[in-house]
Amino acid sequence: MNPSKLLAKIREPWLKQVTQTLAQGTNLRESIQGQFERFFELLEEALQTGNPAWLDSILLDWINAPTLTQLHEGAQGVSKIINQVISITSATARDTLSDTETLDLLTAILPFYTYALERVARLETEARINYMNNEITEMKDKLEHLDRTKSNFISVAAHELKTPLTLIEGYSSMLRDTVDSTKSSGADQFLRGMNTGIARMRAIVDDMIDVSLIDNKLLSLNFQPTAISHLLTFLKSELTEIIKLRQQRLIIQKFSGDDAWIYADSERLYQALKNILTNAIKYTPDKGTITLDGRTLPGFVEIIVTDTGIGISHENQTLIFEKFAQLGKVNLHSSGKTKFKGGGPGLGLPITRGIIEAHGGTIWVESEGYDEDKCPGSSFHILLPLRTDASDATVEKLFGKIENLSYGKKDTANNESPA
Ligand code: ADP
Repeated sequence: MNPSKLLAKIREPWLKQVTQTLAQGTNLRESIQGQFERFFELLEEALQTGNPAWLDSILLDWINAPTLTQLHEGAQGVSKIINQVISITSATARDTLSDTETLDLLTAILPFYTYALERVARLETEARINYMNNEITEMKDKLEHLDRTKSNFISVAAHELKTPLTLIEGYSSMLRDTVDSTKSSGADQFLRGMNTGIARMRAIVDDMIDVSLIDNKLLSLNFQPTAISHLLTFLKSELTEIIKLRQQRLIIQKFSGDDAWIYADSERLYQALKNILTNAIKYTPDKGTITLDGRTLPGFVEIIVTDTGIGISHENQTLIFEKFAQLGKVNLHSSGKTKFKGGGPGLGLPITRGIIEAHGGTIWVESEGYDEDKCPGSSFHILLPLRTDASDATVEKLFGKIENLSYGKKDTANNESPA
């Protein structure tokens, strides 16, 4: 018998069974029956014309019907329904038709069900991907909003603190002038304590201002001819006392490219290098070693600061460059500029990254992990473009083009600071 006629023969028991099974536990019996009447009609059309695309419209409606919760939980709703419909079709055919008729009908109809299953699987995957994409976009928007709020807060707080801080600095300086340090009133000592606090606060406010400049892409660099070796010489002398205090060794190697003249903002670069070296001192136990080395790469100079400190876990290696990052499993003390593990507000590395990126460079860290007992150490890498052109005409006029780049041969002689 013609498969279309066989299909027509099972219509009533099929519809009854499908509605009963799928409407179970719901009060949507009528609407479900209506849906499957339509499905059956389209299946008949598909079978008669040999074109499975007749099923597309209803499958699409079903795919778009599931609630967001179902998608969220990953329920493969429509595929499941089609699978149930396939078993019900084969059961009702067996109950209603002879064995040969059942075989004929199933052979004729299976390709259409297979088509429906494939189509549904593809549509469901697409719907799920769309849902996930929307979720990601929503999440990204929320994070960006949060970041903007954080950034606005820092900017407002820093500017609000700046004025009273300047007043305190001014009055404390006047007070210092009026205190007679020759008399042992103790006022001198109080003033010193006050000044330490003021200096710490000034550093934090300056960091907050820098972070908000970087966040708002307002950090402007003052490019001028700079030689890294000069910055390192100044840095070494600035850090000598702290290094001595911590009984550490600071080894500054000569490396190819360190004495090349490049266009850079020397003040900002100094600030960035100082942050990295101060961190190396802070997160390395007493008697540890900090080594600064580097090399020239095509178009770049790489500066590497290695320490024998507590190291950084893999999960924190990107987080530390985010402002106010909450690092897991790191025990820090109250803030201290150079004390072992004296954690600060967590703005140093975001600023350093901002400065290096504003130069067109990049910064990253390598470490085997965080271990306060074994001290695996960390290596901070800074890749800086060897810029030989001035940033604008005025600077060019003032300093000219740096033509005489001399990447001195690597000198192995150590430039070691006193321990
Ligand atoms: P902080 O003010 O906390 O030092 P930073 O932005 O300079 O802020 O550094 C962020 C965090 O990165 C630090 O709190 C510390 O956990 C980690 N860190 C930075 N440098 C090192 C280092 N050389 N060794 C180990 N941990 C480091």
